[in-house]
Amino acid sequence: MKHLEEYRDAHLVRGVLDDLRRRVTRPWVIMEICGGQTHSIVRHGLDRLLPDSIELVHGPGCPVCVTSLELIDKALAIAAQPEVIFASYGDMLRVPGSGRDLFAVRAAGGDVRVVYSPLDAVKLAQANPDRQVVFFAIGFETTAPANVMSVLQARALGLTNYSVLVSHVCVPPAMHAILGSPHNRVQGFLAAGHVCAVMGYWEYEPIASRYRVPIVVTGFEPLDLVQGIRQTVEQLEAGRAEVENAYARVVTRLGNPAAQQVIGQVFEVCDRNWRGIGRLPASGWKLRAEYAAFDAELRFEVQDMRAEESPLCIAGMILQGLRRPGDCPAFGTLCTPEQPLGATMVSSEGACSAYYRYGRDAGSMSLAAEPERKQPA
Ligand code: SF4
Repeated sequence: MKHLEEYRDAHLVRGVLDDLRRRVTRPWVIMEICGGQTHSIVRHGLDRLLPDSIELVHGPGCPVCVTSLELIDKALAIAAQPEVIFASYGDMLRVPGSGRDLFAVRAAGGDVRVVYSPLDAVKLAQANPDRQVVFFAIGFETTAPANVMSVLQARALGLTNYSVLVSHVCVPPAMHAILGSPHNRVQGFLAAGHVCAVMGYWEYEPIASRYRVPIVVTGFEPLDLVQGIRQTVEQLEAGRAEVENAYARVVTRLGNPAAQQVIGQVFEVCDRNWRGIGRLPASGWKLRAEYAAFDAELRFEVQDMRAEESPLCIAGMILQGLRRPGDCPAFGTLCTPEQPLGATMVSSEGACSAYYRYGRDAGSMSLAAEPERKQPA
């Protein structure tokens, strides 16, 4: 409990906030990139404890939220095949595709299973040699090492009935897209600590320098978050734009070279469609040609599917810091966790989900965790 209790110490958090209040002299807009950070901020009411002049906006770092609609539709098409066991993390099951979700496929007889690791899916393939096991390999840089390890493990075991439906995206291209937009409001970033634990933070140095924005590598507990915000504001007030590491207990500048090596062995850079945002060049990873035998898109011939987003959903603007969940006219009415219109309402890292779950429409100013709304099973 060491790192949980000390980084949730309300007295220490208030001390940092008091110091922040003394330092800030004008309005600043700061984006936390990671949806896990968004949930922690909203859950603990940290944004409401900040000086009024500091506005936090929520970034695109929610892998479920940015997985493109056509990838969801491909997952639905594959999962409906009678010979397939489709394995996925739980919060993907409720994400709406063009017509239905993975729960609906399961209700119609599809064999859709929740797993907690891609290696669980490899075990399923070992245990079911007469079935095709497909793992929905989504995520940012954080989950890439485990996903590529599952492919290497399947190859080492000689499995011919295991494949992955890959939807991997990377943080730096999204930051370029946000900062390069004529509508951009973001003046500083909290970079996601777990992504940097894998990749390091050297990739962010040219971004800070090119766009003149401070970037602070930040953790996920309340004290981590307010320290990251304070360091970002210190830079903004001083006119500095550097990359700083406020999560040194986990992150180094170069990250985890062994993890980067296996990612590079199995994946190569590709263009990706980001749900609600659009196609970003060189913004993701796909399997290298040597691993094509493990590519579910090729195995099930779903490469050419296309889809249209609901016109009501403004999640793309929320994920770029241009709108908030409460700005969406469908929030809590036409769009709820039980009947979602967009992925950000059902992902455990989605901003709309955070606002709904913690009753942000009626929220509190307490440092204690806000009461949680019951989520659908
Ligand atoms: S509330 Fe629902 S419809 Fe509105 S932006 Fe969020 S996910 Fe999309």
